[in-house]
Amino acid sequence: MMKSFRIGSLFGIPIKLDLTFLLVLPLFAYLIGAQIGPVVDILNTSMNAGIDADALTAEWWLPYVVGLAAAIGLFVGVVLHELGHSLTAQRYGFPIDSITLWLFGGIAALSEMPEDWKQEFNIAIAGPIVSVLVGIASYLLFLITPEAFSGTRFVLGYLAVLNVALAIFNMIPAFPMDGGRILRALLARGRPYAKATQQAAGIGKLFAVFMGLFGLLAFNIILIGVAFFVYIAASSEAQQVTMKAAFQDVTVGDIMTSTGDLHTVEPDTPISTLIQRMFTERHTGYPVVEYDALEGERLVGLVTLSDARGIDPVERDAYTVEDVMTTDLQTISADSDAMTAIEQMQKHGIGRLLVVENDAQHSADRPDGETPHEGDELVGLISRSDVMTAFDIVQKSGSVSPVGQPQTAD
Ligand SMILES: [Zn+2]
Repeated sequence: MMKSFRIGSLFGIPIKLDLTFLLVLPLFAYLIGAQIGPVVDILNTSMNAGIDADALTAEWWLPYVVGLAAAIGLFVGVVLHELGHSLTAQRYGFPIDSITLWLFGGIAALSEMPEDWKQEFNIAIAGPIVSVLVGIASYLLFLITPEAFSGTRFVLGYLAVLNVALAIFNMIPAFPMDGGRILRALLARGRPYAKATQQAAGIGKLFAVFMGLFGLLAFNIILIGVAFFVYIAASSEAQQVTMKAAFQDVTVGDIMTSTGDLHTVEPDTPISTLIQRMFTERHTGYPVVEYDALEGERLVGLVTLSDARGIDPVERDAYTVEDVMTTDLQTISADSDAMTAIEQMQKHGIGRLLVVENDAQHSADRPDGETPHEGDELVGLISRSDVMTAFDIVQKSGSVSPVGQPQTAD
């Protein structure tokens, strides 16, 4: 996905820079520097700043140095905004993976999202509140800075205005903006979370369409870009939450292909036989099972069409499944949520997971996704298409709670 690197950490949260951010920082420095005259006019009239524009443009490079300082200050403000979200989330016990700065500002990566409306509301509003506070702090510093320091006064005045503007912009009621989450939290007070998400996403998309139209009419490319981004984010948020709600009570065991219907191969099967079976049975992946006199069936690997293709056609009789199979297996227990299976497939970029028997002695101290232990018993296979088919059925049956349990709002 994004290419980013770590620059340090605050309150134990890693702060990362995305490569797109390195493009946008000089661009901001340049844009602020190039518009220093008009901005000084605005600051002088709006907050009686008394900044001497001539002093800031005495040398050709001076505006860009001031611009760079303002741009860096702006991104410090963004980090503080994200810290506002992160520290509030941490207080509720949600771990924060990282804060990443990229093209459109900052992202605080929460490992999971709260579904309690009060928690989501507080986490979402903490960012804009911090931005307003940073704006006020910048303004106070601006007030106590002597008029002789025009550059410093410019940067502080600029940050005062921009941080408040950032707070206002983030209150737009559209995902992924904070306002979208605040809106969902408020809607979720009286209705199920999935319903609230769909409504909030609908409002967000409407906003995005208006924003895009306005951007077109005003020939504002940035606005069109933001509108596009908001539209995509609203759609994917809604889809993910809808899926989660649809699969609320669905386990991997409910939708997997169980061993009875599952075709398996043995480690000593020749590749040529495997490919022949793939053609006739129209499967592209097989669990590899070994038969042991003592233990019975034992899962030893997974072999896919692309593994088999790696062998030259003329040598396919000489090689066996064991030579090409994957032994680093991603497994999931049958009683895991269907959503967990999707997330695990996305995380590892794979199309299928082996479903193993949920052994009560093991499951407590062994997280899903670990390589299977000796003697893990294969009970089925779950593929991306199994999940999508099940999702389709749940959606078309018109219910978000497939096993008929009533949804409660509390
Ligand atoms: Zn925010």
